[in-house]
Amino acid sequence: MKAARMKTPRRPVPKKPSNPCVKDPVGVYCRVRPLSRPDQECCIEVIDETTVQIHPPEGYRIFRNGEYRETQYSFKEVFGTLVVQKQLFDVVAKPLVEDLIRGKNGLLFTYGVTGSGKTHTMTGSPGDGGLLPRCLDMIFNSIGPFQAKRFVFKLDDKNGVDVQCEVDALLERQKRDAMPIPKTPSGKRQIDPEFADMINVQDHCKVEDVDEDNVYSVFVSYIEIYNNYIYDLLEEAPFEPIKPKPPQSKILREDQNHNMYVTGCTEVEVKSTEEAFEVFWRGQKKRRIANTQLNRESSRSHSVFIIKLAQAPLDADGDNVLQEKEQITLSQLSLVDLAGSERTNRTKAEGNRLREAGNINQSLMTLRTCIEVLRENQMYGTNKMVPYRDSKLTHLFKNYFDGEGKVRMIVCVNPKAEDYEESLQVMRFAEMTQEVEVARPADRPICGLTPGRRFRNQAFREELQRKLEMRGGPINEETEEQAVSELLLQNFPPLPSCELLDINDDQTLPKVIEVLEKRHKLRQMLSEEIAKTVHAFKTVLQEFDSSVVSKENYIQGKLSEKEKTIAGQKMELERLEKKIKTLEYKIHILEKTATIYEEDKRNLQQELESKSQQLQRQASDKRRMEARLQGMVTETSVKWEKECERRVAAKQLEMQNKLWVKDEKLKQLKAIVTEPKNEKPERPSRVRDREKPVQRSVSPPPAPSAPPVRLRHRRSRSAGERWVDHKPPSNVPTETVMQPQVPHAITVAAASEKALAKCDKYMLTHQELASDGEIETKLIKGDVFKTRGGGQAVQFTEIETLKQESPTGRKRRSSPSNPDPPEDAADSEWTDVETRCSVAVEMRAGSALGPGYQHHAQPKRRKP
Ligand code: ADP
Ligand code: MG
Repeated sequence: MKAARMKTPRRPVPKKPSNPCVKDPVGVYCRVRPLSRPDQECCIEVIDETTVQIHPPEGYRIFRNGEYRETQYSFKEVFGTLVVQKQLFDVVAKPLVEDLIRGKNGLLFTYGVTGSGKTHTMTGSPGDGGLLPRCLDMIFNSIGPFQAKRFVFKLDDKNGVDVQCEVDALLERQKRDAMPIPKTPSGKRQIDPEFADMINVQDHCKVEDVDEDNVYSVFVSYIEIYNNYIYDLLEEAPFEPIKPKPPQSKILREDQNHNMYVTGCTEVEVKSTEEAFEVFWRGQKKRRIANTQLNRESSRSHSVFIIKLAQAPLDADGDNVLQEKEQITLSQLSLVDLAGSERTNRTKAEGNRLREAGNINQSLMTLRTCIEVLRENQMYGTNKMVPYRDSKLTHLFKNYFDGEGKVRMIVCVNPKAEDYEESLQVMRFAEMTQEVEVARPADRPICGLTPGRRFRNQAFREELQRKLEMRGGPINEETEEQAVSELLLQNFPPLPSCELLDINDDQTLPKVIEVLEKRHKLRQMLSEEIAKTVHAFKTVLQEFDSSVVSKENYIQGKLSEKEKTIAGQKMELERLEKKIKTLEYKIHILEKTATIYEEDKRNLQQELESKSQQLQRQASDKRRMEARLQGMVTETSVKWEKECERRVAAKQLEMQNKLWVKDEKLKQLKAIVTEPKNEKPERPSRVRDREKPVQRSVSPPPAPSAPPVRLRHRRSRSAGERWVDHKPPSNVPTETVMQPQVPHAITVAAASEKALAKCDKYMLTHQELASDGEIETKLIKGDVFKTRGGGQAVQFTEIETLKQESPTGRKRRSSPSNPDPPEDAADSEWTDVETRCSVAVEMRAGSALGPGYQHHAQPKRRKP
């Protein structure tokens, strides 16, 4: 180790016996905070006073051979959830305060993730002061009676300290008091009750055997490191209400003793715990304001509260400070509340914040790296460069690790399962840190120089003791007071005898005068002391009073504030009630309107429905009418078409017939002209035949080869066809030879379903009187079908008309009144060529008929 590193800061080198061999490891303590909710899953258990066990929570458990990993970490001491602040203070911080008062440096920091209790441990909560107020309390309890007057010690801007005599200090004090107080937001110093609660530690903890021959002064400074910038939290910037200036960052410098310090940092001399904590609170407020105004994440900044203690010996009389700069000792205790150690992604920071957070993380990373390198150097004797300069945080504390002093770290952990991974990282860091060693500062002899006050005080204490013992009896406050006053009187020089026996006695009176003067002087001194004490007491009383008053004022203020709030809320309530009433009325009106509208809607809907029904009805009527008209039109047109067709066909046939008859007549004529006379004997049979009426079709007979009207295709009637021969009983027997004969027919008198079921053809013989008075027989034929319903249907296919005509029909037609002409008349007519021709024609035509028919028929296609 280099000699320079061994120096205790501020202490003149020759006076300090350095102790380069002794080193202490960094004291790492662990504090486990209680879970915020009892139902939270816990992943850290305190095993004993020095061990904690961390296990993965349910979700994380890594199973290895059926068992999950539990890890144990050891610390110098572990503080469980039930440990109170005082216990922690006694173990961790008290030794640091003792060291401070003995002129040694110390560094105490809290490390852990956000919410793990770092601030709770360092600052505390209202009513439960943390390490910082307790340290202050202990310092002032210890040095209280030995404090120097304000401004006796003066810090310079190079991290050094100077001393001045009490008179100069008094002058400076007066000068400062005369100066107008700068108007700052914190200018009005009012004690915050929350803060008052925190410093009310009432431990009366103090360092024993404080060097009474020294005078002491405490200076505090408070800085914040955010985004690798250092800000002075106590800087009194002039108050600018419109646009407050953003805080200016500070730079780090190294003093002649290689200690790092923040240049231009405000250092406030404080004389009591309250004053010191008030200064801290001021900085804390400023920090909060800055965080809000600049939208910072407070958990990402490191805060450093530095307590500097200057001490210098009194002169040999024990009355005045020794005016020697080299004799001044300046020690410092840094209390650091580090930023949350969690990784960035946990807080889901974005943009600027992420970058800033990255830098903060960077400083913690640098801290880790520094610790790692230090450990490596120490363990393996390597000489790697420790990267202190990589971050402001590590740079500021370089001297603690490289120089000497006590370094202590409290690792704060929240045992909740969500923090498991982060807690694991914290544990690992803690484990590593414990292996780093820091040189132990050398002890300084107490009262080595000018033990005047000590000796005087010691002598007084001894004398008092002796006196009390001599008196005997019980020792209580009263007896002690008596003894003290006796001792004080005793200290008064005894009066010599004042009796003047000799007129020339010029010794007694001067002696008496001398003694009296001495006594007077002593009295004056005592009364001065009393006045001082009274003054001090009055000050304390006044402070207490003002604190009580301010508390009262605060409470009053709060009360009136609350009252105002209540009144405001009442008014608001009334307003809201009124509003509710108005709204209710509106709702009522709206409901009514809605009902009316609904009724209207219903009526309109009904109307609409009836109208649409009416419309539908009209439309269907229209459709029906249209259909009927359409039907009538088509019917009429079909009827007329048919009629026309029929007439045309009849005319055609008639004409063809006429033509054919003429042809035949011509042929007959030709035959008659050419045939021999012996063929005549055939005539009688013919005549016989002709005696019976000959049936003749009204329609012209078909041509033998190509009939003028196309015959309908007929199926073979012989093959399995069965006919129903329907002959109504009203029919008149015609007795012609050419009766319609249907083989295998079932003859019925009325339409019979039974018969129809057996047959597949149907024929109705229908008779009516023709216009010429002859009976006209119509054979209406059709096909029988089975209907789907199981009945029978007849589709008429053709109608044959048979007409009976007498060979003398023409005559008959001319004289219908003579229905029975004489037979010889016929004979007479046999010679008539025309008649003969027509008979011949009929015979031929009859022979041309199809099977089963012995009459001349001209089928007519009829579709039903
Ligand atoms: P950090 O500074 O690490 O972010 P805080 O100190 O602000 O965490 O703690 C977060 C909350 O937990 C605070 O409300 C604090 O009062 C509470 N807390 C922390 N540690 C303890 C403890 N040991 N006992 C009781 N409450 C605690
Ligand atoms: Mg905190």
